[in-house]
Amino acid sequence: MFNALVVDKNEDGKTSAAVQQIGEDQLPAGDVTVAVEYSTVNYKDGLCIGPGGGLVRNYPHVPGIDLAGTVESSSDDRYKAGDKVVLTGWRVGEAHWGGYSQKARVKADWLVPLPAGLDTRQAMAVGTAGFTAMLAVMALEDHGIKDGPVLVTGAAGGVGSVATAILANLGHEVAGVTGRPETADYLTSLGATQIVARDELNETTKRPLEAETWGGCVDAVGGEMLARVLGQMKYGASVSAVGLAGGAGLPATVIPFLLRGVNLLGIDSVMQPYDNRVRAWARIAKDLPMDKLDAMVQPAVLSDLPQLGSDILKGQVKGRVVVDVNA
Ligand code: NDP
Repeated sequence: MFNALVVDKNEDGKTSAAVQQIGEDQLPAGDVTVAVEYSTVNYKDGLCIGPGGGLVRNYPHVPGIDLAGTVESSSDDRYKAGDKVVLTGWRVGEAHWGGYSQKARVKADWLVPLPAGLDTRQAMAVGTAGFTAMLAVMALEDHGIKDGPVLVTGAAGGVGSVATAILANLGHEVAGVTGRPETADYLTSLGATQIVARDELNETTKRPLEAETWGGCVDAVGGEMLARVLGQMKYGASVSAVGLAGGAGLPATVIPFLLRGVNLLGIDSVMQPYDNRVRAWARIAKDLPMDKLDAMVQPAVLSDLPQLGSDILKGQVKGRVVVDVNA
């Protein structure tokens, strides 16, 4: 028997989450059994721990959309006992039991070997949010980052923190948008050279185009803020749209696309093919300074997760939460 955070639906239709002892025979089918060492808290985890938001289809459920650990047994030739592995995406923690457990059984296709230069704790300090931040930066690079600051929205959150550190380390000037002025020193320590107050970009304007300001943007917020930012991009610049922490609607016009050639790039970390995942993890190991990664991390244990799941949905988590599932 081993520990896992189990979310179940009660008779009144409400969900409750608690650390429970479960057995290996309860794990879902898969080719590889992993002794999990670390998982993390992402926005989607908040949805899965709480009322579900449509992400969890079957209860009881073990959330945790990412994990890193050591292979215990494998029926797939690509992995053997003792291999260190990382998993993000593939609806693990949503449709398949995830990383908030001391053991997980998953498909070999969903794993990647632990990238050289990272240990399992560092890999999860990056986790899904940081992996997505890297994908977002790579998409901007593919389309060309223009001169001028690169804007990062939701900067003090998980995606935003890692994107800020990577972009600054690559030599870009980074402007971080935050609704929490108290995080300014933190964002500066990650490499942001400009702090933009959330309210400045939440104000609506009737003007579809404003001064050309940003050479690129990693957007974790969506909604009205994304609509406003589109009109402030430099000619031909790109926005990597990652998230919807500020809303799923997009009250924008087509003018920035027509008159400024702005590119809106959708980033999906869930269904990334194996080669892309390996390429992104290698870039993370190379381009994300480990001292900055350490500064983003707050540690947690399984019993902290119900509270942290609620906190992240309220935008109250700073940086990355790393869950030691064996503590
Ligand atoms: P976090 O909660 O860690 O960060 C989100 C940040 O957005 C907050 O910290 C806050 O930053 C800001 N924010 C929160 N609410 C609002 C609001 N109402 N208006 C404006 N800003 C707000 O989440 P993550 O970084 O883990 O994820 C961010 C988004 O990216 C989520 O929507 C998530 O689902 C999505 N995501 C998408 C992925 C993909 O594959 N496309 C993968 C991973 C995440 P501050 O306090 O600095 O303002």
